[in-house]
Amino acid sequence: MLVRFEPDQAGLCTHLDAIKPVTPSAPGCEDCLSIGMVWVHLRICMTCGHVGCCDDSRNRHARVHHDCSGHPVVRSIEPGETWGWCYLDDTPLPPAQQAQPSTSPRDDTPGKGKQTRSP
Ligand SMILES: [Zn+2]
Ligand SMILES: [Zn+2]
Ligand SMILES: [Zn+2]
Repeated sequence: MLVRFEPDQAGLCTHLDAIKPVTPSAPGCEDCLSIGMVWVHLRICMTCGHVGCCDDSRNRHARVHHDCSGHPVVRSIEPGETWGWCYLDDTPLPPAQQAQPSTSPRDDTPGKGKQTRSP
């Protein structure tokens, strides 16, 4: 399952080209899983897909991954959360506004349908 993140382009972060569609590396924090620890929230690296735990977790593996790899941007993969974070800018990255599902265009195609006005 690919994880994508489309931040609001008006943000201050200049590292948006580090963001790619990624595949989660593990079903939970991969570093906590390997040492039998627990975590609070999960963040995923938007450059390589590393899944790590948040700053509220004891081990802060998402931040550790950033320190080791230099990958700048993570996003939350908690249910219902779509925001991201840039470690280099130390700033939250709001997601782009969801495009409103445009009411599907129908009945407004000119020239088609019953009422042709041509003589
Ligand atoms: Zn940035
Ligand atoms: Zn962890
Ligand atoms: Zn990474």
